[in-house]
Amino acid sequence: MTAFARKTCNGPCGRQLSIAHSFYRDYRYPGGYMSICKDCKRASVRENRELKLDYYRAKGRQKSALPYYRQRRRDYAQTPRGQEVMRAARARYRRWKAIEQRA
Ligand SMILES: [Zn+2]
Repeated sequence: MTAFARKTCNGPCGRQLSIAHSFYRDYRYPGGYMSICKDCKRASVRENRELKLDYYRAKGRQKSALPYYRQRRRDYAQTPRGQEVMRAARARYRRWKAIEQRA
């Protein structure tokens, strides 16, 4: 297979594209590339996330509650950049709180 080999996307676009440039690698497929192009794959990932948004949000919350990630946040908060980010977040929260109380 050369770098210029092309194949037809099995996704909704059905375009004929350069394999090396327009298809994600995936060793589970016989050719080593996915059967749908990068554009179609991105669209399907986005659509799936939207359909199961609650599931993915819950999953993210579960993950960020794990000790490893809690410790990483604590460590980051000690760095100069982390303190800057925390200060900005606190300021945003105060502004938001002030608007909440007026309403
Ligand atoms: Zn496609």
